Amino acid sequence: MDTAVEVRAGILKIGCALLEKGLVAGTWGNISARLPAIDRIAVTPSGRNYRDLEDSDIVLTDLEGNVIAGQLKPSSELKMHLEIYKARSDVMAIIHTHSIFASSCAVANTSIPPIIEDLVQLIGGSVDVAKYALPGTNELAKNVVAALGDKGAALLCNHGVVCCGGNLCEAFLGCELVERAAQMYIYASQLGGARELSREDVKVMHDFYLEHYRHRQKG
Ligand SMILES: [Zn+2]
Repeated sequence: MDTAVEVRAGILKIGCALLEKGLVAGTWGNISARLPAIDRIAVTPSGRNYRDLEDSDIVLTDLEGNVIAGQLKPSSELKMHLEIYKARSDVMAIIHTHSIFASSCAVANTSIPPIIEDLVQLIGGSVDVAKYALPGTNELAKNVVAALGDKGAALLCNHGVVCCGGNLCEAFLGCELVERAAQMYIYASQLGGARELSREDVKVMHDFYLEHYRHRQKG
């Protein structure tokens, strides 16, 4: 099991990867991971560029948001992260970005339908839009949990996207796949519209991914 030291380093690495891939700009977006062994959440601090951070700048909180370790203020979206962890025992990492194509769907209040196989394998279906609420509020946190259901991603109306996974790498892959699917959806709309995968086929592909993933984790 990953230690707090490993998880803090992992969060920084993912933060830099988000910048490199253009999924976040400046200090926007936030990343967290669950530390089940010590019942803590590791989360990026508020308003800091990932490239300027050191491992010890990653804040550790409890599930109620009390700071346990770290000198900086935790992300302003910590409530959203905590509500997702409370609702979903399977979620071990969460990444929130304002990536362009996913956010375009979010500002149009339009879900990304299940249109491409890699997306549905990982996310488990459409990426639905959480009802609008101001950033950092309990209301937004609850709306995001409702939009997520048991899936791996949701859009935040007029705001951005949140992806969650069994570890940081999976949540990061979710951010990439949702962004690519949003781009495909927008392009396909200009070609007359995207064909959706059937509910049955989505389930087969997602179940296969979970089985394969679990197998790989055990291996
Ligand atoms: Zn945001």
